[in-house]
Amino acid sequence: YLTKHRPGRTIFANPGPTNIPDSILQASAVPSIDFTDEDFTNNVYLPCIDGLKRVVKTTDGQIFLNAATGNGAWEAVLVNLLSQGDKILIVEGGFFSDLWGMMARNLGIKVDVLSTNVRTGVDPAELRSLLSKDTAHEIKAVCVVHNETSTGVTVPLADIRKAIDAAGHPALFLVDTISSLASIDFRMDEWGVDGVVCGGQKGLMLPTGLSFAAVSPKAWAATETSTLPKHYFNWRFQIQRIPHKSFAGTIPSHMFFALREALRLIEAEGGVDAVLARHHRLAEGVRRCVQHWGSGDKVVQKEGAPEIFCEDKTRYSDSITAILIPGEGKPAQVKQIAINLGVSLGGGIGKWTQGKIIRIGHLGDNNEASILGVLGVVETALNIAGVPHYAGGVTKALQYYAEQRIAQQTNGH
Ligand code: PLP
Repeated sequence: YLTKHRPGRTIFANPGPTNIPDSILQASAVPSIDFTDEDFTNNVYLPCIDGLKRVVKTTDGQIFLNAATGNGAWEAVLVNLLSQGDKILIVEGGFFSDLWGMMARNLGIKVDVLSTNVRTGVDPAELRSLLSKDTAHEIKAVCVVHNETSTGVTVPLADIRKAIDAAGHPALFLVDTISSLASIDFRMDEWGVDGVVCGGQKGLMLPTGLSFAAVSPKAWAATETSTLPKHYFNWRFQIQRIPHKSFAGTIPSHMFFALREALRLIEAEGGVDAVLARHHRLAEGVRRCVQHWGSGDKVVQKEGAPEIFCEDKTRYSDSITAILIPGEGKPAQVKQIAINLGVSLGGGIGKWTQGKIIRIGHLGDNNEASILGVLGVVETALNIAGVPHYAGGVTKALQYYAEQRIAQQTNGH
């Protein structure tokens, strides 16, 4: 399907899009259907809505889908909930929080930014203090990227919710879960999230092109007064369009066959919590490996060696590990060698990480075998590129996976 043939199966370790399981690819290989067909509504569309609600953990929220990537869901949430000249607060995390802020400005929204150290992410106490000063409640929404895909830092949403409440601030709480959904713990109702931005091509393992928003009753009430121009993404229009089918145009029915299969796979693994546990286990192996490359059995980091970009251990991302590789051009070299050896990695993006890091995406359809393959290739690439490191990082990962399996067997799993 590409002109260049790479023998064997390339292991895809980008943080999105992610590996698509064969059964998902096959599920969408069906003839076109009339999307108003009741069989489709009852047996494909509505079960998908129910499944998505289980994944975002909401019973009160409504789901609105778009034939668009994550950018579409970002836009939908902004234009449906806000009005021209409203102010929002973007909590800085990195490239993607920046981009969301840029979109808001382009839509005519005023944007304040809470600056952070992107290697650790926001301090909820600072957020609380900033919101407490906004006594006129000019800030209409607090926008947070749950897992900043460009840095591999996951921020604690429950603490952020508490900070908003402690400031007694009524702002809507809008969260981008594009690289955390179905890979990192997320609880819409419990954490009082009003607008959830979700994408399909990461934790949900779908071909790129479907995104959705989950909307709380409080946010739905805000749609009544929102005056920002909108058409395709207009939820109030979508909801009247065809009962149960919230699209302004043709329903991308093939994407729903794929989505139904993705949701079936999640259930067949034991539900979303089992999926999250696997992501945590696989990610922890990656981290142990990278830490060993950097400092071996010592405390001090080896000069010039790889290092996890995230500086707060409690905020390590279970969906992507960003690895700082010192030395001009070294990250690009490692990335290029890796693809030649059969592993596709992510690189740095945005002003903080461009040219400085490689990113291992470990979200979606992965197991120990795929992750050990990735780590083995990256260690080989470090050797070829002459990046200083302690050998044997991969051994640390496989020891960890062995311990985890033994513990699972002992617990009867
Ligand atoms: N937000 C985050 C956290 C992302 O990782 C991405 C894409 O990688 C986006 C938003 C933008 O989504 P898309 O590229 O699907 O439009």
